[in-house]
Amino acid sequence: MKIPFVDLSAQYNRHKEAIDKSVNRIIRNASFVGGPEIKAFESAFAEANGVKNCIAVANGTDAIYITLKMLGIGPGDEVITTALSWISTSETISQTGAKPVFVDINPNDYTINTELIESKITAHTKAIIPVHLYGQPAEMRKINSICNKHNLLLIEDCAQAHFAHYQGQIVGSFGDAATFSFYPGKNLGAYGDAGAILTNNNELANKCRMYANHGALVKHHHMMEGINSRMDSLQAAILNVKLPFINEWNDKRRQNAAYYNEILKEIPQIKTGYVNPNTSHIYHVYCIRAEKRNALQSFLSKHEIQTAIHYPIALPNMPAYSYLGNLPDDFPVASNYQDTILSLPMYPELRTEQMLFVAQQIKEFYKLANFN
Ligand SMILES: *Cc1c(COP(=O)(O)O)cnc(C)c1O
Repeated sequence: MKIPFVDLSAQYNRHKEAIDKSVNRIIRNASFVGGPEIKAFESAFAEANGVKNCIAVANGTDAIYITLKMLGIGPGDEVITTALSWISTSETISQTGAKPVFVDINPNDYTINTELIESKITAHTKAIIPVHLYGQPAEMRKINSICNKHNLLLIEDCAQAHFAHYQGQIVGSFGDAATFSFYPGKNLGAYGDAGAILTNNNELANKCRMYANHGALVKHHHMMEGINSRMDSLQAAILNVKLPFINEWNDKRRQNAAYYNEILKEIPQIKTGYVNPNTSHIYHVYCIRAEKRNALQSFLSKHEIQTAIHYPIALPNMPAYSYLGNLPDDFPVASNYQDTILSLPMYPELRTEQMLFVAQQIKEFYKLANFN
């Protein structure tokens, strides 16, 4: 039984007719940049998240960069973020000229450890970017109160957490702005790169919209220099077809995660995920911690089970950040977990027998491993 890490064709096959129709309409109308599909997606996504403004952009990385830049963050500033994330979260801080300041993660839910944030705040700190890692919201109440106390901007990186909730409140609505990615493998994925910014701040929304379009809201009227970071109409058309199904897909992922938890719980060599009772986790990633992780991953791969590691090197340990002078011991949890975490196949269409096969192969691996 071959089990891919994500199965994008399973979803396409179910919605093929609607997606093909939408894509063909865009091609027939030859309106590839801007136009009604973009506007429709922006209003639908803003409304579904209960936030006033949505700006569709080219990808989730640009969404962070544009937001930080338009919030006025730049050289001399520091921005606090988590030690465990995809590099977009921190490289965009550097792109503005500011300095990324990393904080270790919670040992249980992998999100930024809010107990450690205040020790990293200096006179230069301007903002915090929590990441709702793997689809589980960070401790937003605590982060909100730290931001209020120290007068810091709050940008939520929601790239992995579309429609996840914290204490019943949807992520993306807690701070000054929130950024999303619709990279194909994300819970809500386009068929190429795409991203969005959400904000209740109308002035910030206008600036971001301008900056993402060469600094112009009206063609040829450049109020400033900007960049070209527009979402393609083709991607918006695909996202418009998919958006109504996101909650159903998130529910299926949650059911699959519950099933994995059940069938994996007796294996002493692995640890399944913890769910913070304050949150509704949407399982962009189903992450376990495993003894002999690398050997287990190769074993599973030999048995045609595709897995991944999110992420094999914590951000502060990347060569890209050696200039910051961080040591792995400064981030003991993230540095330790980078060697044990393993992401198992997870998608809404994943079937019971596939998950059973994964569990069976993991058990088989440890049985063999114990003989050596
Ligand atoms: C995917 C991702 C991004 C970046 O999104 P792209 O659309 O690939 O640029 C940013 N942050 C996190 C946490 C992500 O997982």
